[in-house]
Amino acid sequence: MKQLTLATALISREVRPVKTRLEIARSAYLDKRVTKSQRESKRTRSERARERLQTKEHLARLAVGLGEVELADKIDRCHSRVAVLTCGRHIHRILPNFTCEFRLCPDCGRRRSRKLQNKYLPVMRAFMLHHKVTPVHLVLTQTHRKESRKQSIKRIKDSFGKLQRRMFWNEHFKGGTWSLEVTKDKNGLHHTHLHIIGFRRKFFDIELLRSEWLAVTGDSHVLNLKPILDIAAGLREVVKYVSKPLDIRRFGADDLREFLGLKNMRMFGTFGEFRNFSKDFEPSDNDAAAIGDLESLARDLVEGCACPQCNEPLFDLRMSKNELPQFYEQVESLPPGEVRKSSH
Ligand SMILES: [Zn+2]
Ligand SMILES: [Zn+2]
Repeated sequence: MKQLTLATALISREVRPVKTRLEIARSAYLDKRVTKSQRESKRTRSERARERLQTKEHLARLAVGLGEVELADKIDRCHSRVAVLTCGRHIHRILPNFTCEFRLCPDCGRRRSRKLQNKYLPVMRAFMLHHKVTPVHLVLTQTHRKESRKQSIKRIKDSFGKLQRRMFWNEHFKGGTWSLEVTKDKNGLHHTHLHIIGFRRKFFDIELLRSEWLAVTGDSHVLNLKPILDIAAGLREVVKYVSKPLDIRRFGADDLREFLGLKNMRMFGTFGEFRNFSKDFEPSDNDAAAIGDLESLARDLVEGCACPQCNEPLFDLRMSKNELPQFYEQVESLPPGEVRKSSH
């Protein structure tokens, strides 16, 4: 019996990489630019922290170049010192001294996308239950043209607006959320796309949706649709673009100037019946418990509490922004460690 279990475990371990290869093979059919962002999430926390630091330095330099000294100063002060609540092995919370709230700031973007997750996850779960709909992640893209960023964004939003007025769309979707991602192709043309969590009423042939999208755009048929199996993970992936809607590391002074001109440009929104549902939604205790998970647990933790993962006492470590990536690295280099049960 024991041997059989071991054998099964071995088999399942061997099967896993094969599955991954299959998934890669399948995604090879998709637009490479669409899946690029999925690969990015594989990086370690220290790598991402270091990258945020570089992005902010880059942004501050560009701002100085444009004479936006106040903005540069705010970006520079944002998260310049942090208090990290940790057991030395696990990090539970990072409190910054100051937040700039600039829409391109990667640190503030992360906070914003966490807020969106906390707000919309219970609404989505309730919406799915009430309406018996299933979520899909739909990416809509458009052809690249010589146009400004503003024009490119307006064009895709207008097309999406038209799509929502089509009979096909209303028959198959009951609303959802959208977020905007804008990058540039190698010729410097804007590659603007919409990441949509759509609540699907029923199945349909993807080719039909493709022809609908072509009908409203006139020249674009490239889209990608995949079912969302775990709504928390699906939402996390989509709100990621709220924290980095643009490819900032490749930003030049002109890009920043153009962006500063885009006041009030919305990067995230709700649509269809989900829109009203989320406005009227008041979470019940059950919903709160359902989203809670680690997020609300971490909110209650303070210095001296036992780490929920290893039971060691938590303490506050104060450090500068330059020390944070190193601290992440140090934590990552530790062996995973045994999960110790409380002795009480
Ligand atoms: Zn900031
Ligand atoms: Zn711990």
